[in-house]
Amino acid sequence: MSSLHTGARIVRKSFSKIKDIVPVPNLIEVQSKSFNDFVQLDFLPAERQNIGLEKVFRDIFPIDYGDKMSLGYISYELGAWSCTCGKLTGVAERYAWSCSSCQASGCSRLSDQLECPSCKALTARYKACHNCLSRVGVKLPMTLGECRSSGQTFSMPLKVRLQLTSWDRPEGGERVVRDIKEQEIFFADVPVMADLYEERGQFVLGNLGTFLINGIDRVIVSQLHRSPGVVFSQSKKVKDLHGKPYYLARIIPMRGMWLDFEFDSNDYLYVRVDKKKKIFITTFLQALGVKRDEIIPLFYSFERIVSENGEFYQEVSDRLLGVRLRHGMVDGEGSAVHVGKLITRDTLAWFKKAGKKDNNNQHNQCCADRFIDTWPLNLRQFKAHFF
Ligand SMILES: [Zn+2]
Ligand SMILES: [Zn+2]
Repeated sequence: MSSLHTGARIVRKSFSKIKDIVPVPNLIEVQSKSFNDFVQLDFLPAERQNIGLEKVFRDIFPIDYGDKMSLGYISYELGAWSCTCGKLTGVAERYAWSCSSCQASGCSRLSDQLECPSCKALTARYKACHNCLSRVGVKLPMTLGECRSSGQTFSMPLKVRLQLTSWDRPEGGERVVRDIKEQEIFFADVPVMADLYEERGQFVLGNLGTFLINGIDRVIVSQLHRSPGVVFSQSKKVKDLHGKPYYLARIIPMRGMWLDFEFDSNDYLYVRVDKKKKIFITTFLQALGVKRDEIIPLFYSFERIVSENGEFYQEVSDRLLGVRLRHGMVDGEGSAVHVGKLITRDTLAWFKKAGKKDNNNQHNQCCADRFIDTWPLNLRQFKAHFF
């Protein structure tokens, strides 16, 4: 019979007849390793890999405000690092060392044998506070038990060191740095995986694999994430007054808000940011920095129409391809052949040829044929021009 100790007093006895062949693996190892990789708690900023929190900060910063200012990221510190009396603070003080043989000192992680990086003797020691003789470690305002009994969240403060650079740009010159300020700011209280413990001289989190939020144990459950991309769909449930379905487009970014594009019953195009109130797409585009006059050219090409002697002339171009020629749309010799037919490349070539013969008009433009058409705006008459 084997017995297994779980917790402080509970002894679990096993009455099974089949012996354990393989010990039960650490089932929460994946979660706790993942969280420790995310926070990289007991690491000097220089040692941190570009993963987790570090990657998030490096991706977001620097934030530029035009050419005037830029907010850059330097490093972050999770947890309150200090010695027992609170005289020494910061994770850098934790890894400050000095060597008694060669009197060298520095700030880096030493090997397990405490070998001095400078003289290779095993005499390097981490710095301790002169006042309380303790080394800098993580200080928790409340233990896990205290948090649980008082309904608090087990969390650590996240402080970020940022650099604000302001620039001057003299007229027509290169920009020059006006001022650089560097400051550590409090960012947020981050809930951390319980519990905090020390392993081979290094603080690690998450041997329980749970979080404590407002005094309640919580776990992370993996979920499927809607993959980023653009989705076009047709609403099957909601239809407009004429029974036509709405068409929707959705942009799902890797990070940030979802954008929904939708038409209403008047065929106005709206956008919803994060499924909130809908706003006009033009308002949205202007908010993105597109000028009001530049919105239409972004989506449509222009047709050049000239008014002359009460008639409208249109440029003969590929845009006319596919238009059916009706009686009266075309003047000129031999044009009757083309009436009733779609304009093809051959017809266009014929227009151009016919147009070149006639060089009499005042703009020195070749006026070939007259178009009367209902498109696009019931304009009365068109004449084809070669600009
Ligand atoms: Zn101290
Ligand atoms: Zn040394």
